[in-house]
Amino acid sequence: MSTQDSTAPKNLANIISHCKEYGFIFPSSEIYDGLSAVYDYGQWGVELKKNIKDLWWKSMVYMHENIVGIDSAIFMHPTIWKASGHVDNFSDPMIDNLDSKKRYRVDHLIEAYAEQVSGGESLNEEGQAVIAQMEALLAKDDFAGLKQLILDKKMTCSVSGTCNWTDVRQFNLMFSTQLGSVAEESDTIYLRPETAQGIFVNFINVQKSGRMKVPFGIAQIGKAFRNEIVARGFIFRMREFEQMEMQYFVRPGTQKTWYEYWKEARMKWHLELGIPVERYRFHDHVKLAHYADAACDIEYDFPMGFKEVEGIHSRTDFDLTQHQTYSKKKIQYFDNDIDEATGKPFGNYTPYVIETSIGLDRCILMCLSEAYCEEDLSTPEKQDSRVVLKFPPKIAPIKLAVLPLMKKDGLPEKARELMDHCRDSFLCFYEEKDSIGKRYRRMDALGTPFCVTIDHQSLEDNTVTIRFRDSMEQERIPMEEVKDRVLASLR
Ligand code: ATP
Repeated sequence: MSTQDSTAPKNLANIISHCKEYGFIFPSSEIYDGLSAVYDYGQWGVELKKNIKDLWWKSMVYMHENIVGIDSAIFMHPTIWKASGHVDNFSDPMIDNLDSKKRYRVDHLIEAYAEQVSGGESLNEEGQAVIAQMEALLAKDDFAGLKQLILDKKMTCSVSGTCNWTDVRQFNLMFSTQLGSVAEESDTIYLRPETAQGIFVNFINVQKSGRMKVPFGIAQIGKAFRNEIVARGFIFRMREFEQMEMQYFVRPGTQKTWYEYWKEARMKWHLELGIPVERYRFHDHVKLAHYADAACDIEYDFPMGFKEVEGIHSRTDFDLTQHQTYSKKKIQYFDNDIDEATGKPFGNYTPYVIETSIGLDRCILMCLSEAYCEEDLSTPEKQDSRVVLKFPPKIAPIKLAVLPLMKKDGLPEKARELMDHCRDSFLCFYEEKDSIGKRYRRMDALGTPFCVTIDHQSLEDNTVTIRFRDSMEQERIPMEEVKDRVLASLR
């Protein structure tokens, strides 16, 4: 038997078609030819998603006495996005290279060109002239002129090396809509591009109502929306997606320690998904956002290479301070612990924030990529193969399939007895159609870790055959042991 182990390269196209064929993920609005970069989760995808959400929630909220969860609304006051910087920082003119699909801020592309022709730190005459032209065009919002400048100077993409550009467009990643029936500018609100701001603006509510003491965290799982111009990679980059974010509020000066703590804690969570350590790496940000004092990504080796699945950011007091300024409400914390240096309480301050932010859909793609295996089971006598999703049982959509060998002789009734015994503890699946071999293969393709077959002997001595997905081994056990066996694998 040749097995595709977890380190073998996986083919994304095969994973995408498997997800559709077996009811995990469908393109959105498919009967209308789909909607780009939007996907629907099917009957098994939704279970996988729920299991991953639950694991994350448990590790954050149940396992930490000082972390609580919230569920804030998607619509928020528009000023929030001014305070957070999203209104201004996502509104630059952009241009895409059609060959590499790389997107550039137009000013970055032109500045890089100016530096390149100048050949040094300071700009020469030609470089200065290009910058002057750019500034004049930007001031007039003359996007056609900017594109012409890029074409005239033959500015190329650093990846493809070509000059094959789209038009320049003003691009804000946020989707906007109107609140109320009158389309006035003041009514414009945004679909949130991240869940974090819902946490920041509830900092005081949660801290006071929960009598939370710094350090403490607020966790949230929810939808976020980004009008990604280059949306590729299946559910890796979507326009509507889900995030699992946690903001941890700490005393200023302790952020470095907590940043290291959360880097380690989050990597531990990833490893508990059963994914080997060599499939991950940390990527430290060299160029930090203006509000961050440290930041890194956890990258996973996706079918298209190592890419970010989670970000861990030390965001200083930027967000809370911004909201304090824009809302004109005091957003501070009184710390009555004694500062050993002064012998006095730490007093009032704006807490610093460590954020962990993971895309749920990216995490699902990671688990699918890791689990997907094509196995050649051929023997000299017979060609055979299977596709199996080797999910750890705790994230597998179905935990147990109950399969009566035949549709008669009281076997279905016996099988239903087992279903009724187990269904309040985990998701079970009943199937009596097709040969047992075909039913096993189907359960392998869905990632079901255990199949139980009920046969005539089961009626006599109350034993059943349990079959293990990964090894395909079978064992005869008493029927009353099945539930505990499955439960033990979920711990
Ligand atoms: P990227 O560089 O890939 O665009 P980002 O750095 O903008 O991601 P963050 O703003 O830090 O991402 O968001 C946190 C997490 O949310 C990311 O690590 C990723 O898992 C997820 N995420 C962000 N954008 C998308 C998207 N368009 N589709 C799916 N998941 C996303």
